Amino acid sequence: MERYRVREDEKIQLKDIDPGDTGKYDGEKDEGLELLGELNQELEQLQELLYAEHKHRVLVVLQGMDTSGKDGVIRHVFEGVNPQGVRVASFKVPTPEELDHDYLWRIHKQTPAKGEIVIFNRSHYEDVLVVRVHELVPEMVWKKRYEQIREFERHLVQEGTIILKFFLHIDLEEQKERLQARLYDPTKTWKFNPGDLKERALWDVYTEAYEDAINKTSTVEAPWYIVPANKKWYRNLVIASVLVDALKKLNMKYPQPAEDLSGIVIQ
Ligand code: ADP
Repeated sequence: MERYRVREDEKIQLKDIDPGDTGKYDGEKDEGLELLGELNQELEQLQELLYAEHKHRVLVVLQGMDTSGKDGVIRHVFEGVNPQGVRVASFKVPTPEELDHDYLWRIHKQTPAKGEIVIFNRSHYEDVLVVRVHELVPEMVWKKRYEQIREFERHLVQEGTIILKFFLHIDLEEQKERLQARLYDPTKTWKFNPGDLKERALWDVYTEAYEDAINKTSTVEAPWYIVPANKKWYRNLVIASVLVDALKKLNMKYPQPAEDLSGIVIQ
């Protein structure tokens, strides 16, 4: 799955990356789902260990065009994981109070504590995406943010946070189908937001903004992964694999008891 990682010196273009890719599974959904089940269990155990060891912090950033599946990832990748150890922070249009502060203020407050996994459903990257596309601040302001974001993330990493950033890569056709499903399926109409059509019309401008954000902020310590996301099961599999691998590399251990427990008898 490491082939989806964007290297620090790389300059990707999204058109070169197939959103329908299913890697070595070659469309074998059943096999993929079976492995996802195993990864879910591994993730559950690793999360418990992370919580028990109380040493590392884990931040998962999810970004993608509308309907790319951020909610689906949260539901399916973290299935079975103890809800006490995982928190989701969703970043919507900033409130007046948030706008009165610098853009990282609301973000920093939500970063993970020791032993915690936090999933950002949207993130500080909105401040170089929607903000850039809709010119909510002047160019000279958002242009400086790439460097600021790199510095902010470096700071978090140096303080013991593991950062994994995922761009859920779908194409225009797949988005059309998903929006259409929201229009026709009564269990999905609540998700339909007419505003999404305005954003859809800006697809190319968003693509450019995403490419810039990914190319300028994928670092060794806080890498971006471009996840083929037209196939939901494969999208989940890629993210679960990357996450499990990253947690395994931490070589975590259950803490030793503070005193010798061998003589204790429970009456
Ligand atoms: P979602 O699409 O994530 O399920 P919403 O439909 O409520 O949830 O969309 C949240 C909206 O908030 C998105 O349109 C997103 O671009 C916007 N948003 C998030 N952060 C910012 C920001 N910093 N400035 C302006 N808009 C933002």
